[in-house]
Amino acid sequence: MSLDNTSQPSVEYCTDTVNARHIHGRPEHELVPSRYALKVGTIDVTVVSDGVLSLPGAMLGHNADPAVREAWLHDMFLPPDVLEWALNVVLVRSGDRTILIDAGIGMEFPDLKRAGQLIRRLEDADIDLASVTDVVLTHLHMDHVGGLLVDGVKERLRPDLRVHVAAAEAKFWESPDFSRVSMPPGFPDALRRTGKQFLKEYQSQMRLFENEYEVAPGVLVTRTGGHTPGHSVVRLASGGNRLTFAGDAVFQVGFEHPDWYNGFEHDPEEAARVRVRLLRELAANRESLVATHLSFPSVCHVAVDGDVFRWVPGPWEY
Ligand SMILES: [Zn+2]
Repeated sequence: MSLDNTSQPSVEYCTDTVNARHIHGRPEHELVPSRYALKVGTIDVTVVSDGVLSLPGAMLGHNADPAVREAWLHDMFLPPDVLEWALNVVLVRSGDRTILIDAGIGMEFPDLKRAGQLIRRLEDADIDLASVTDVVLTHLHMDHVGGLLVDGVKERLRPDLRVHVAAAEAKFWESPDFSRVSMPPGFPDALRRTGKQFLKEYQSQMRLFENEYEVAPGVLVTRTGGHTPGHSVVRLASGGNRLTFAGDAVFQVGFEHPDWYNGFEHDPEEAARVRVRLLRELAANRESLVATHLSFPSVCHVAVDGDVFRWVPGPWEY
């Protein structure tokens, strides 16, 4: 078949802004998909995009040979110097609990202006902040807690909100070690400041756990360590279905190069071990994977490919 013979809508047609502005009669709606809903047994899962972070390309593997790293970016049709990182948040409803897993980056970082959309996008999805009973934080990096530090957000959350964080994570941010990371200038200070601010502002609502905690039926948060000492993942299981929200244990490059050190990893060797262990497990039990920085909505499966892994995007179901 010749590609020239297939019909292709013109770009002009696809971006018909007149019609778009009147979709459902709501003039201000975004024309991008910013939330994606699925079910895991009886558990409702909504992946919400906080936006995109633009970061230096080298951060995806600072221990990799620069030529090999550039070749990988080229093969993935990505620019060599800028990494466009998705920033996904998940909302889970199970039993009588409504659980927000991570909170995006918030509004404090004007240089990262394509992210920080969570609160607005929850509103667009008719998700009331006051309906959230629990927050689970995979770790306290600013791109995971910043949304809770936006002006006015804490006041809109319920006073009896429970914020679940690994005890090791809370302890780490009292005096965090940045000696093994590889970040752009300014990031360590911003991360320190945000981590400490979060601990202070939400201290009375924090519910610390040691290794794991069942937040609601079929919603288990489990500490992995590695990325940060208290980094955790959330395992969902209901009616024979399973899904894991891996936070920052898995990045896009981590399937093919699980041994590449991400610039945000505080203990990169341990982070790589955690990644391999988790990917092996997800491949073996065939469950779905969602992760913070995989392309939205990031619902996928993991396959074993020789010594490494293969990313298998999930079908778009609606
Ligand atoms: Zn992150």
